[in-house]
Amino acid sequence: MLYIVSTPIGNLKDITFRAVEVLQSVDLIAAEDTRHSRILLKHYNIVAPVTSYFEHNKFKKGEYLLKAMKDGQSVALVTDAGTPGISDPGFHLIRLARENSIPVTVVPGPCALIGALSISGLPAHAFVFAGFLPVKSAARRRKLAEFKTEARTVILYESPHRLLKTLQDIYEVLDNPRVVCVRELTKKFEEVRPGTCQDLIGHFTRNSPKGEFVLLLSRDGPVRGFTAPLDRSGRRWYI
Ligand code: SAM
Repeated sequence: MLYIVSTPIGNLKDITFRAVEVLQSVDLIAAEDTRHSRILLKHYNIVAPVTSYFEHNKFKKGEYLLKAMKDGQSVALVTDAGTPGISDPGFHLIRLARENSIPVTVVPGPCALIGALSISGLPAHAFVFAGFLPVKSAARRRKLAEFKTEARTVILYESPHRLLKTLQDIYEVLDNPRVVCVRELTKKFEEVRPGTCQDLIGHFTRNSPKGEFVLLLSRDGPVRGFTAPLDRSGRRWYI
């Protein structure tokens, strides 16, 4: 059996009872970054053996984990944050297990895109998740152009060092749409910052982007009067 176990995206307490039980009972835990996951495992007295499973060993380690499961061992897959398989290397192992008729079951929990969407105030009944955009600007702009007529909320993951470049491309390709920028979910500096793309470019030019980001774009625009959490200086930011 392969258990796909969601883990916190910032706050260690965001883990389900079942996730802790499963992690305590499996024969082996495959973790994206073993040092990172050990903090969580230690916190919940989880002593199962841990092995690394990440982008650069996913083929070799995938075969090793497959053999372990074929030999009857139960394996839990966790990644650095959130739900394995969502914009992280989990996908390969999940497909490998499925192709080899290993039962796969989910232990659901946190996921940054769902958390961000749920508090964004944007329409959440239909959305498109596009993960990380391509790193090269030309490819990124081509991808963004696909959303020119998109009526659903578009959700993107972005790293702090590429945030401004991505906002600049969104501004130009999608003609300064309304954007909600969600940062550091469940952490001390959690922030939801709605505005036009231009507003956000101005803000993040003055305040260098720090932390983890989800960008949400919608032609519908944020609901007026929506209240954001306190910002770093203790102020609330209203639209
Ligand atoms: N599997 C994860 C999930 O379920 O959300 C996503 C993994 S992906 C490698 C990491 C990206 O998720 C970050 O670059 C950021 O865009 C987003 N992310 C993760 N944690 C976040 C948080 N606490 N606040 C905002 N975005 C977060």
